[in-house]
Amino acid sequence: MSKSAGLRKRADAPPTTAGLDLPPAFARRPPNAPDYVAPNLGDPNDPDAAYTEPRAPRPGMLIGLCVGIAVSLTLYLVVFYETISTPSDAAGFTADGSNLLDVTRLTLVHNVTVRTMDPAVPDGAALLVRGNEIARVIHANDAAYSLQSLRGIGVTVVNGHGAYVYPGLMDSHGHFLGHGLALSRPNLVGLSSVAAVRTALRDFISQSPDGSYSDTRWLVGSGWDHTTWTDALNGAGAFPTAADLDSDPVLASIPIVLQRIDVHAYWLNQRAISLLGQLPLDVAGGAIKRDPTTHAPAGVFVDNAMFLVDNIMPAPTAADLDTALVRAQTDLVRFGVTAIGDAGVLPLAMAALVRGAHAGKLKVRVHAMISCPQDNEHMHIQAPAPAFCAEMVQGLVEAARNVSDRIAIRSVKLFLDGALGSHGAALIRPYDDAPETRGIVRCSSWECPELNEVVRKWDEEGFQVNIHAIGDHANQLAINALEQVKAEKRPRIEHAQILTLEDIDRVAKLGILPSMQPTHGSDMGYAQSRLGLDRLRGAYAWQRFLQAGVTHLPLSSDFPVESPDPLEGMYSAIARMDHDAKSPHGDQTPWFADQTLTPYQAVKGFTADAAYASFMDKIIGTIAPGKRADLVFTDVDLAHITNAQELLPKGGKRRVLATWIDGQCVYEKDAWCARGVEAQI
Ligand SMILES: [Zn+2]
Repeated sequence: MSKSAGLRKRADAPPTTAGLDLPPAFARRPPNAPDYVAPNLGDPNDPDAAYTEPRAPRPGMLIGLCVGIAVSLTLYLVVFYETISTPSDAAGFTADGSNLLDVTRLTLVHNVTVRTMDPAVPDGAALLVRGNEIARVIHANDAAYSLQSLRGIGVTVVNGHGAYVYPGLMDSHGHFLGHGLALSRPNLVGLSSVAAVRTALRDFISQSPDGSYSDTRWLVGSGWDHTTWTDALNGAGAFPTAADLDSDPVLASIPIVLQRIDVHAYWLNQRAISLLGQLPLDVAGGAIKRDPTTHAPAGVFVDNAMFLVDNIMPAPTAADLDTALVRAQTDLVRFGVTAIGDAGVLPLAMAALVRGAHAGKLKVRVHAMISCPQDNEHMHIQAPAPAFCAEMVQGLVEAARNVSDRIAIRSVKLFLDGALGSHGAALIRPYDDAPETRGIVRCSSWECPELNEVVRKWDEEGFQVNIHAIGDHANQLAINALEQVKAEKRPRIEHAQILTLEDIDRVAKLGILPSMQPTHGSDMGYAQSRLGLDRLRGAYAWQRFLQAGVTHLPLSSDFPVESPDPLEGMYSAIARMDHDAKSPHGDQTPWFADQTLTPYQAVKGFTADAAYASFMDKIIGTIAPGKRADLVFTDVDLAHITNAQELLPKGGKRRVLATWIDGQCVYEKDAWCARGVEAQI
């Protein structure tokens, strides 16, 4: 998927309002909408402990029971009630009648096709939701749950008008607040020249309501990709320089830092470079690109060298982050995303999540992978090497406790290398197109001797260990270190992008979860020149992992690096072509067709497998009685699609009709939720 072909272009304009203006759940929603349940962040020593909230007796149950009896239950209701109180029904309809009150909170969604993504629960034709939970998947011949049968007991009836219902989609690996911040900044994604970047920045400054940038307020943008530029002044495929920005006098006058699309390199102008002060000659695990004649910093800072910039750049304020949370969430729910893995949460971001939860603004579920900060003074900057900071994390767990069950902290994210696009991925052998380098390891040395102990300590503390590894060398280091972690702790390699074939087998054997991003197949335009044909056999090898015996393949987008739309991710997984159905192997020809996923595998990756990889499989990931009513309604049958192009947002048309979290409508297209309410029966 060549980036210039629009894979990363956003079809819709990003939200422009700061406030989250979520539509009401239903026009006539029943009373007693579910409250948040007190969180159970789980015992970190017990991988299965999270999200197993004991069902606390609700105040008013007895009153409800008495009232229920007093209003003379019809025989019909009793028959209905008994029918849904079978022992196999985990939705909480107990035989003693203590949940009678809940009958008033039933919602029936009919005229739909329910795809449970759970082999144990057959697909259905309607869905009964009780409060925030799935009560029952109803089948076409299930007479006891027909509209006629349910009449008279206080059910809200929603007509799905033929929609497909899937479990809410989970993006296993994204950057929540980073995405929100990116939505507030100049978006350079898809621009095909340096000149276009300059124009975009000038436009942004002139349209900014507060265009007063200064040494204490830098202009920050993101999304540039030099591999797609047509006017590369410094040679095709070469990094840009500060001078490329400074040729515009307005841009030269303010400090500018621009994140590369993979967030593994910064591009600065001279004003920003001058604020960095004295710079070291070399940076372990990073690189300062230099002018070949003067040896002065040329403008681009790769991987660990980015920390030199982070240390000086003004940190986002609490208000910036609060706004970012709402913007990111508003963007995500319209794609059907109901849960995310937040891959690398620093204390400053964690505080924003907790504030959002406190204020009732946090809707999506967040599996927070904590990253250690650089030091106490720089709590918003990642530590440059794998680190252990359990004491600090304990503070975060405490802060999040009793706030919301939407936030789970039981996981840590470590970084090993950079990305392929910026030659930062750590490779066993040198790059084919840059034989002088094997990439970057973000450790004290190439063999990362500290990794084993850091992993062991986190594992002993009961944390799931998730390691960023892109190149085959980084993946080998990660596998070697994760060998000491039991499979039931669900260790993950984030990206698992380029591996030797032997290491793919080891991943399967050890029960490590490869957490992969189908849209990163957008590297296919340059992957072969960087890696050579032989190494590509183990690169972006989604199907090979499954064939090797991997049972869970959590998928994600790595937003804002790629579009957060999971349907685009599914398309990339199924098609392995760009949006114009092209690949380096030809038109209408997938890039290494044997590595495509089936539609079902792709959807499973964004639902059941994602939930498993985040220890959320007991409450989400499939549609089954007792699970949360986190749902996405679509107008295409995602897991059975025959033309993958239908998943793409052609002409701005998106396939998601509505998104529910905990039984509440948090996104609706064209008032879909409100229009669907037919009656209270
Ligand atoms: Zn990431």
